Amino acid sequence: MTEPNSNFLNDIVEEVKVCRHDLHRHPATSYEEIYASDLIARKLSEWGIEFERGWAETGIVATIHGKETSSGKRIGFRGDMDALDIVEDTGAEWASTIKGKMHACGHDGHTSILLGTAKYLAETRNFNGTVHLFFQPAEEGGGGAIRMIEEGLFDKYPVDSVYAVHNWPYLPLGKVAIKGGPVMASTDKIEITVIGKGGHAAMPNETIDPIVIASEIVTALQTIVSRTVKPTDPVVISITNFNAGTGAHNIIPTDAKLVGTVRTFDNKVRDTIKNRIAGIVESITHAHGARGTFEFITGYEPTINDTAQAALCTDIAQNIFGKDQILTDFPPSMGAEDFGAMLEKKPGCYAIFGQGDPENPDSPHNYGLHHPKYDFNDDLLPDVIRYFSSITERVLPL
Ligand SMILES: [Zn+2]
Ligand SMILES: [Zn+2]
Repeated sequence: MTEPNSNFLNDIVEEVKVCRHDLHRHPATSYEEIYASDLIARKLSEWGIEFERGWAETGIVATIHGKETSSGKRIGFRGDMDALDIVEDTGAEWASTIKGKMHACGHDGHTSILLGTAKYLAETRNFNGTVHLFFQPAEEGGGGAIRMIEEGLFDKYPVDSVYAVHNWPYLPLGKVAIKGGPVMASTDKIEITVIGKGGHAAMPNETIDPIVIASEIVTALQTIVSRTVKPTDPVVISITNFNAGTGAHNIIPTDAKLVGTVRTFDNKVRDTIKNRIAGIVESITHAHGARGTFEFITGYEPTINDTAQAALCTDIAQNIFGKDQILTDFPPSMGAEDFGAMLEKKPGCYAIFGQGDPENPDSPHNYGLHHPKYDFNDDLLPDVIRYFSSITERVLPL
C-alpha cells in the first residue's frame, strides 16, 4: 500500500483504541450487540461513510468507494462484535461494566480494526472498486454470519472475495499465520437417545438396560476416528454428556441420552461420520432389542482458505511485517469460526495474528481466548488496519 503518513495512521489508531475500550466496557452476547451497533453507526456517520443497519438484527454493512470504481470489483472484510458469558477478572481500567458478560475473545478489537480500516480507506480511497465492511453479530455459537448470508448479504453486496482475522494469544505479537486450505474445523452437535426398558436392578433379565447399550455405543464411536476415517484426516468425536438414571442405586432406567460434538475439516468426511454414527446407533440398539434415536445438528462449516487468496495475503503480510514473521506451515485448529460460512460462498482468507507477550508472563495478552483474565492487545490495531488496507490497494489497484 501507499505508505500512509504515520501520524495519520497513529491518529486513527488512537481514535479506535478509545472505541475498543468503550466496547470492552459494554459487552453483549449474540444478537444483543446494540451498544456496539450504535457506536459503529455513530462513528461511520461522523466520518461520512455510507452504511446499512439491521443485518441479522444488530449487524451493519458499511460501503466505501475508491477514487475510481471502473473495475467493477468489490471485496469484503468481516469483523465480529459479540462477547461471552464470562465474569471478567482482568482488573483493566476498561473492564466490563456488565456483570457476567465479557469481551474474552477480542471481538471488541476486531470491531475496532474494521472501524479503523473504514476510516483509513474512506480518507485515502487509493483503490479502484468498492469495499464492504461486514460488522457481524453472534459469532460465538449464534451463527451471525450464516444469518446475514441467509438474509441476502451476498446478493445485495456481491463481493468477489472476503477477508477476516482473529487475534491469537498462543503466538507472540508480530507473528502472523496464513495458509491455504483448512484453518478451523466444522463443529456439529450429536444427540443420541437409547430407549430400553426400565425395571428393578436386582432383576436385569426383566429389563433392557439402556446404560449398558449406550456404553457400547460410546465405545464403538471411538472406532470411527481410528478405523473408518483415513489417518491423515483430522477428526474429533467427543461424547460430552452421558445422562441416565435418577440417582437411585436400585433402578435400571428406561432411557439414556448422549450428547457430543463432531469436528472435521472436510465435508465428505463429515457426511461419512454422520452415516457411520447413525449405523452404529441403529445396529447396537437393535442387537439388544432397544430403540435408538440419533440427531446430527449441523453447526459451523469448516473455515477453508482459498489457496490463491491465501498466497496473495501471505505475500502482502510478508511485505508489511517481514518474511520471517509469517508462518505458512502450522496445524489447523479444531476450534470453529462462522466466517467459514462466508468462505464457503466466496474465495477469501482468514489470517491469525499473534498477540502474546512472552516476555511478560502475567500479561493479559497471553491468556487463552475465553479466559476471564484475557484482554485484546491494542498493538494489533495498526498492524491489521495496515494489512486490510494493503489487501484493498493490492486487489483493487488504481
Ligand atoms: Zn471465541
Ligand atoms: Zn473469536
